[in-house]
Amino acid sequence: MTAFTTLPLKPALLASVETLGYDEMTPVQQQSLPPMLAGRDVIAQAQTGSGKTAAFGLSLLQSLDADTIRLQALVLCPTRELADQVSKAIRKLAANIPNVKLLTLCGGMPLGPQLASLTHDPHIVVGTPGRVQEHLKRGSLHGGGIRVLVLDEADRMLDMGFSEAIDDIIGRIAKHHQTLLFSATWPDEIRGVSKRVQKDPVAVTVDAPAEERPAIEQQFIELEQTSKPDALAQLLSGEKGQHALVFCNMRKDVDAVAQELDRRGHSALALHGDMEQRDRDEVLVRFANHSCTVLVATDVAARGLDIVALPLVVSYDIAHDPETHTHRIGRTGRAGQTGLAITLCTPRERPKAANIEALSGAPLPWRPLKLAPTRSKTLQLAPMKTLVIDAGRQDKLRPGDILGALTGDAGLAANDIGKIDVFATRAYVAISRALAPKALERLRAGKIKGRNFRVRPLG
Ligand code: AMP
Repeated sequence: MTAFTTLPLKPALLASVETLGYDEMTPVQQQSLPPMLAGRDVIAQAQTGSGKTAAFGLSLLQSLDADTIRLQALVLCPTRELADQVSKAIRKLAANIPNVKLLTLCGGMPLGPQLASLTHDPHIVVGTPGRVQEHLKRGSLHGGGIRVLVLDEADRMLDMGFSEAIDDIIGRIAKHHQTLLFSATWPDEIRGVSKRVQKDPVAVTVDAPAEERPAIEQQFIELEQTSKPDALAQLLSGEKGQHALVFCNMRKDVDAVAQELDRRGHSALALHGDMEQRDRDEVLVRFANHSCTVLVATDVAARGLDIVALPLVVSYDIAHDPETHTHRIGRTGRAGQTGLAITLCTPRERPKAANIEALSGAPLPWRPLKLAPTRSKTLQLAPMKTLVIDAGRQDKLRPGDILGALTGDAGLAANDIGKIDVFATRAYVAISRALAPKALERLRAGKIKGRNFRVRPLG
């Protein structure tokens, strides 16, 4: 009984499911869809990749009345990246229901265009809590008709400090609504939120089957605080250091560690919560396209990161609590490919290691680290370099146009060109480091889509 046809879904939704090629429900869908479709509140433990988006997407579309022009479903997500993904997924599921209007409302984007598109309430809003709250406060969005509220990746939203905004939003929408809460982890705060905002919820937990669980090798290293910079540089010198995420507990340390790595010849970048959206985007682009090898981040900042399955994750400081530790190490490893998660721990930080050990129920894998004598600076350059083009979607620029300009007139091989990211007013293209000057020169001399745009190297 795992086919979608066993569910009381509208034919239009069953048709979308078929088009998308979903033959069977995932475990989270099997358990959460029946109570959700029956109108119950649900709290579900679900990770990215579990099929959670389709679960709540189908449920909210089932109860949607497209003929009534009012906001009926609100999905809150921790980051713009996730809100974009969720919007896309719901649009696909809604493809066979005529006239469904969905709007994505996120912070970090100008308010003006959002206000302009809000002359009529959409049926569905997917957004980040701060911005949705602002629209409800301003009266540019009306919550009185909301039937379904989804809190997606609720644990990350709390980590990012959205708790108050969420409470405020709930105070501004229809009293009687269904609340669907999805969260990878269920720390006490999440249970608290569920108690506060849900009524008699059905709890859904699903264990990932062993073969799908990523293989993660953990190593714990005890050392003095003063040895951490040397230890980190040494750990990052291996092959896995070509794409590594380093966690610090404090924002100020993020910058210091990134600078220290940079000084030692690694191409490291820092990511923390209070960076401008554009700087954040650039750092994420450069890390994802391999023009930076090491990303140093706080937990909060890294939660917005969509890059999963990195070969190496290092906790420069051991996490304050076991849940955060679990989140961190979950960034590495993927089915069939072992990831390495290394935790540095000073003698003073030992009690935190004990907490992690207590939760895991097994002795921690401590290993010694012999620090090699400090070598002269060895450059660990990233394999790619990023070029920025001052034009984007607004100029109708598409990845294919950039690829065309580089492989055509500029004469580069497709192999030398990496990831291309096109934003509203800007585009980024990764080029093999050695060929970046040539690509830059050619792009400047030639045209993209018949036009001259400003192009410059990043970093
Ligand atoms: P999510 O956990 O929502 O991020 O979804 C992970 C991926 O699984 C997405 O690419 C979905 O399109 C896909 N997916 C969701 N439900 C199913 C299903 N029942 N069968 C196959 N793929 C699915």
